[in-house]
Amino acid sequence: MSKFGGIEAGGTKFVCAVGSGPGDLDSVEIPTTGPEETIGRVLDFFGRHGRVEVVGIGSFGPIDPVPESATFGYITSTPKLAWRNFDLAGAIREGLRVKVAFDTDVNAAALGEFRWGAAQGLHTFLYLTVGTGVGGGGMVNGGLLHGHRHPEMGHMRVPHDRERDPFPGNCPYHGDCLEGLAAAPAMEARWGRLPHELPADHPAWELEAHYLALGIANLTLALSPQRVVVGGGILRHEQLYPMVRAKVATLLNGYVATPEIVPPGLGGRAGVLGAIALGQAIL
Ligand code: ZN
Repeated sequence: MSKFGGIEAGGTKFVCAVGSGPGDLDSVEIPTTGPEETIGRVLDFFGRHGRVEVVGIGSFGPIDPVPESATFGYITSTPKLAWRNFDLAGAIREGLRVKVAFDTDVNAAALGEFRWGAAQGLHTFLYLTVGTGVGGGGMVNGGLLHGHRHPEMGHMRVPHDRERDPFPGNCPYHGDCLEGLAAAPAMEARWGRLPHELPADHPAWELEAHYLALGIANLTLALSPQRVVVGGGILRHEQLYPMVRAKVATLLNGYVATPEIVPPGLGGRAGVLGAIALGQAIL
């Protein structure tokens, strides 16, 4: 039976796996340090598993996912300087001598949810992750969403009431974009505590749900998703789901239907399983 490789390349860790789906996954987590050290450990992992047919990569970015482009497979304008303009797909392709599929981490996770998780049977849905950053990918009319390169949903602007929330935002590119207001580092900077240290009735969660709902309402108006799958470390605080659903419904005010807002069916494995699915799709 064919063996497939998957890499969920994140800013804090790389999750590498060999397998064909949720039932037979053999995976490892490698902390993200410099490119040379990290890639060396990734190649070691796959080297121990014998020949894989193809490796799918879902990467943090921004990236260049356009196969015809001269910089296809590169991480482009990340604030992580050592990884800027790094040819990630090329390093894996040459290091393992395999075919490589390459997309954003969030599009990979979306594809994983489509194959095996909470987006099965849908043609238009979004996958959002809210953790150390905010990212979004998905499928529109049955195809993974790309556009010119790929959307950066986490960096959309949302209304920011500075009287209610004086925190200026901490996105290095935009200040108070959605990520700058709602990712875990923003919560920590605003409240002086890590998100998991904030009790469930802390006002932080009401504000967090408010920002996430603004983002999801905007995305619903722009893309008309059937469902929005929302995961990431911050959404382990499950009290957010009913709060976000109610606020999205209030914001949309019956003008369009509120999409279903659900946790990932694959939990934290959506990204790496999606990377496997990315590879399977190009064989
Ligand atoms: Zn931003």
